[in-house]
Amino acid sequence: MQKTEIAILGAGASGLFLARHLKKNYILIDKNTIPQKIKMSGGGKCNFTNEFVTVDNYLGDKKFISKILNYYTNKDVIKFFSDIPFQKIKNNQYFAKSSEYIINKLNQKKFIAEILKVEKKDNFLIHTSKGIIEAKKVVVATGGVSFKTVGASDIGYKIAENFGHKIVTLKPALVGMTLQKNEFWMKNLSGVSVFSKVEFNNKKFRDNVLFSHRGITGPAILNASLYWEKGNIKINFLPKYKKIKSNKSPSNLLNLPKRFVSEFLKSQNIEDKNQNLEFIIEKLQNYTFAPAGTFGFNKAEVTKGGISLEELDDFESKFVKNLYFIGEVLDVTGELGGYNFQWCFSSAKYLADMLN
Ligand SMILES: Cc1cc2nc3c(=O)[nH]c(=O)nc-3n(C[C@H](O)[C@H](O)[C@H](O)COP(=O)(O)OP(=O)(O)OC[C@H]3O[C@@H](n4cnc5c(N)ncnc54)[C@H](O)[C@@H]3O)c2cc1C
Repeated sequence: MQKTEIAILGAGASGLFLARHLKKNYILIDKNTIPQKIKMSGGGKCNFTNEFVTVDNYLGDKKFISKILNYYTNKDVIKFFSDIPFQKIKNNQYFAKSSEYIINKLNQKKFIAEILKVEKKDNFLIHTSKGIIEAKKVVVATGGVSFKTVGASDIGYKIAENFGHKIVTLKPALVGMTLQKNEFWMKNLSGVSVFSKVEFNNKKFRDNVLFSHRGITGPAILNASLYWEKGNIKINFLPKYKKIKSNKSPSNLLNLPKRFVSEFLKSQNIEDKNQNLEFIIEKLQNYTFAPAGTFGFNKAEVTKGGISLEELDDFESKFVKNLYFIGEVLDVTGELGGYNFQWCFSSAKYLADMLN
């Protein structure tokens, strides 16, 4: 049986970042040789942080999240990756030239095996597909359940539950939304994208909305999905509209894809006539609809909900000493734009300094 001081379960963003900063003896366990989510993130360019990170970009315990984000900030993350090629996009999102640079920078030696369960005797016994590892301390960094196709699993939640922890209901987030019948007109617009302002409760996102054969997606909708439980989402399809005098028909006059205006008007039974312009603009700026649901975990960038922070004391279980949780497995979820990796890195660095 292999023995170690610290077993890190999961070599994704948070597990790797922790390992990179630990000065103690550890074994890093993962069933994958490559951190698949880092690889596929940001369209292969890993959006690793954001220029403007505040607790308001996250769902979860504000006080705790704020403490961790202030401990290891976006500036610290940018400094850490300063020797790899990266660029700022949309004035705030930091992307690597390729995810490979992030992976190479974080890469650590791993024990490749599937984690099956964790027991506590005098020490922890981690049962894997390749035997048992004994550890004095265990850090669970096994991430969320979305994208099972690349190896995501619910093992972190199971381990937590077995040790008596509460799991805040898991839901897909940063995900496209499905439509009720009234909105099926959007399905005819697959591939069309419209810059919009999307609002849900007090959250507002100005970015693209993308129509797809399954429903509605794009960055503004993905962000709204983080906060949406049920109820109406409001879309302003003309957030930048300024009045102009013209006799053209609305579909020719408005700065919107013609196909979109035509389907929209059909769905509202309004004629594409200049006399209707003001009425049409009002409709386009105040469109509300209740999504039927989401595209589900297979398409979700993250899992919202997770291990409740109430039962942790600075990432350590209040029930089992020397058992820790970091990263996405926790009940902390960020918006689109590098916030989730920032959380992984901040939580991992905080714990590394605690354990060192
Ligand atoms: C398509 C996509 C794009 C994304 N883009 C971005 C982005 O640009 N910016 C951003 O901030 N966030 C992005 N995210 C979210 C981000 O990838 C995650 O929030 C982050 O990877 C979570 O890190 P983690 O270390 O907590 O978990 P993960 O990175 O998921 O790592 C968990 C690790 O545990 C391993 N594991 C799980 N179960 C077992 C088991 N039973 N046995 C052994 N190993 C196991 C997995 O193989 C994995 O390596 C994206 C997510 C997706 C799916």
